[in-house]
Amino acid sequence: MRGCFERGIGGFKDVVDNKDTEETISKLIDEINKNRLNAFITVREEAIDDARKVDKDKGDKKGRLLGMPIAVKDNISTKGTETTCASKILKGYVPPFDATIIDKLKREGAIIIGKTNMDEFAMGSTTETSFFGPTLNPWKNDKVPGGSSGGSAAAVAAGECIAALGTDTGGSVRCPASFCGVVGIKPTYGLVSRYGLIAYANSVEGIGSMAASVKDAETVLDIISGKDPNDSTSISLEDRSNIINNHKTEKHKRKRKIGVLTTLFNDNGTDKDVLKCVWDAIHRLESLGIEYEEIDLPNIRYALPSYYIIAMSEASSNLARFDGTRYGLSLDESLDVNLDWDSTFSKVRGEGFGKEVKRRILMGTFALSAGYYGRYYLKALKIRSLIIKDFNDAFDKSGLDAIVTPTMPYKPFNLGDKVDDPVSMYLSDIFTVPVNLTGLPSLNITCGFSEGLPIGMQMIGKAFCESDIIEIAKIYESDTNYQKKVLELF
Ligand code: GLN
Repeated sequence: MRGCFERGIGGFKDVVDNKDTEETISKLIDEINKNRLNAFITVREEAIDDARKVDKDKGDKKGRLLGMPIAVKDNISTKGTETTCASKILKGYVPPFDATIIDKLKREGAIIIGKTNMDEFAMGSTTETSFFGPTLNPWKNDKVPGGSSGGSAAAVAAGECIAALGTDTGGSVRCPASFCGVVGIKPTYGLVSRYGLIAYANSVEGIGSMAASVKDAETVLDIISGKDPNDSTSISLEDRSNIINNHKTEKHKRKRKIGVLTTLFNDNGTDKDVLKCVWDAIHRLESLGIEYEEIDLPNIRYALPSYYIIAMSEASSNLARFDGTRYGLSLDESLDVNLDWDSTFSKVRGEGFGKEVKRRILMGTFALSAGYYGRYYLKALKIRSLIIKDFNDAFDKSGLDAIVTPTMPYKPFNLGDKVDDPVSMYLSDIFTVPVNLTGLPSLNITCGFSEGLPIGMQMIGKAFCESDIIEIAKIYESDTNYQKKVLELF
């Protein structure tokens, strides 16, 4: 990929400045089309026309992402470009509108280079449930890239784009960022509009940015943030400032402080090399003037089951709209007027959805059914409230700026290792899903390598205090060379 464009820590500068954007983008498309990693489902050949326009208007047009190739996860609507959620049921679906965030990126001059591979409907942690086949980890091709935004993370790591969008319902930005060695930021719920995102589990999910450096991921996040009249859960600047001002942490305290969630990572089978890298990073931060304190969150161990019940319940309801009459796949038989509705519906869905999606629809429907609703769904919601309280108390009482955990309990594992073992797959989300239950912001940053594979550290912040964790991540990044290593390798 080297030679298509230059990348650097701390900014996009010089990527296409003084260069022929059209040529850069054409070369890049040729590279992507070699399909070494299967990171893309659709490559937008129209990106070359977009690049030509950039060259034509150069000088007049300004934009923070002018001429930059940005990749977009395939569950985000892009006008005129197929959007499949990596599912057979949506194959051939071309949205008639752009998601709000796509509009925002385009206004800054970004070139949407293509749509990235993912777990089907974002359900998974390895990108192996995609109808289009798995994405490979760029560091070692027999390993998983993480998921569900595995295509976006692999594309960033391999230089197939400058930055990418992913979605994070239960870790899907941070997990692949960790496994591919890039930076991934999951913002506070409400910071970024979800209009145009094909929903998996609305109450926990959001769109986040991925890039090779903290600064670049921050720039993209800044561009896509903001209130959107089309998404009632998005928040205005004023409300955001009020929330930030209400945080009880001392405003001008002397030293930054992080909480280390040791109880969670000591008794959960986290790999030794992961623990070592994360502790080394904590001590490094300490040497850079950032204090740490070990903390416990009493209800954190119930986060995983609570997340899966909530996510599956919401999914079972969201996915009811895919019936073969409105979007994507429709079977020839569905045109048969003699076939009753139930048979048509189950034929289309039986054919269109993969195994993991069906499993979740069934379990979610069960958890919401009369008689079990109180025992599962309602209980999960109660646990969610307790976990939100745990996090808020920890931030307030100890005056923390961030809470730190490993992002994933292990290094990237072999393709095929867990795909037929759903429980073990779900368990790999132990550190990421609690954050989605609370809506708090969190990011992944590489904190080491073992056996040639990246290891990621997670930093969780207070609501709408993305800037706190970004600042700490930048301090760490500038003192280590892990992110540079990503840029050098590809
Ligand atoms: N592994 C999580 C799940 O399958 C990740 C989901 C996500 O963040 N999209 O639910």
